[in-house]
Amino acid sequence: MGTDSFGRRIDYLRISVTDRCNLRCIYCMPPEGVPWRDPEDILTFEEIETFAAAAVGEGISKIRLTGGEPLVRLGIVEHVRRLRAITGIEAIAITTNGVLLPKYARQLVDAGLTRVNVSLDSLDPSVYSSVTRGGKLSDALAGIDAAFEAGMRPVKVNVVVVRSLDQDLLSFAEMTRLRPVHVRFIEYMPVGGEGEPAPGGACSSDTTAGAWTIEDHVPSDEIVARLTAEGSAAGFGELEAVARGDAPGGWGPATYYRFPGAAGTIGVISPLSHHFCGECNRLRLTADGKLRTCLFSDDELDARAVLRGGTEADLHALVREALASKPESHNMRVGTLRRMSQIGG
Ligand code: SAM
Ligand code: SF4
Repeated sequence: MGTDSFGRRIDYLRISVTDRCNLRCIYCMPPEGVPWRDPEDILTFEEIETFAAAAVGEGISKIRLTGGEPLVRLGIVEHVRRLRAITGIEAIAITTNGVLLPKYARQLVDAGLTRVNVSLDSLDPSVYSSVTRGGKLSDALAGIDAAFEAGMRPVKVNVVVVRSLDQDLLSFAEMTRLRPVHVRFIEYMPVGGEGEPAPGGACSSDTTAGAWTIEDHVPSDEIVARLTAEGSAAGFGELEAVARGDAPGGWGPATYYRFPGAAGTIGVISPLSHHFCGECNRLRLTADGKLRTCLFSDDELDARAVLRGGTEADLHALVREALASKPESHNMRVGTLRRMSQIGG
């Protein structure tokens, strides 16, 4: 139960609860946003909960809520409470830009959600504002503080590394020295942008997809080499690998490091340079009810149609079909029909 045709145990479901967002990150959404789905196309919370219960019956035990920005959907706290009450769910996590955490962190913890990933690509207010097209760094930092104060653990920070942004990676390493936060540097992925004009006017080819270009992709080995050199020059000591057993409990494929004496850790996630499909443990449900078996594949199963016109047995069969059709690995394809905000990361 919960095993795909390549013997991988699939126990993790990422649920996108909305395609809407209160920010417009340059690598995720166009400035004007994407055309929102009609409200009737978006799964109701009840439909999501019905799907989750069926997925649990097929081996899922961990759920992460994402979006768009999951905290902009009204009623999210009660949704968390109901999901948490499904027998067989071991934990619920959220990936958020953090802006609304000061409002919701405590309520989410009360409802049974403790694990949080906050996306934050720069600790420089002006870089943060340009990456998010107008977001305030102080809002995201207040979100991280609120997560700690509410008792969320682990608190992780996701940083997408984009070469042309020239991010100060060491400032994040400094953050891990001071507080028990786990910063994960994520390789910029060519998701979305299929068929859209790329910067410079060319259309998507092997090296571009919408805003993504191969030049902007920074392989994780380079990220680690940079942190090692800059950390040592700054007197942080030698960056050391963290053994798997000591790494912050994760559901994903990060490799962790730490500077001596640091309260937190530094992780790298390398979907492109060292792809980890052999360890993939997840399915994704989009806000409009499509079940995706791979982030990079546009092959989707129509869970919404089954939720609205099928039986509980049909729903179980759909999840089993997803497990059976999950590809062995992604094909390094550049560009997908949906943008990241429409898939959920
Ligand atoms: N709004 C929430 C947030 O930003 O955390 C949740 C949704 S967002 C789509 C989920 C994650 O995907 C974020 O950490 C974001 O930085 C990441 N992401 C978006 N586009 C990406 C890309 N092209 N490559 C790598 N990560 C990306
Ligand atoms: Fe919104 Fe998250 Fe996409 Fe940024 S990465 S635009 S916060 S969905």
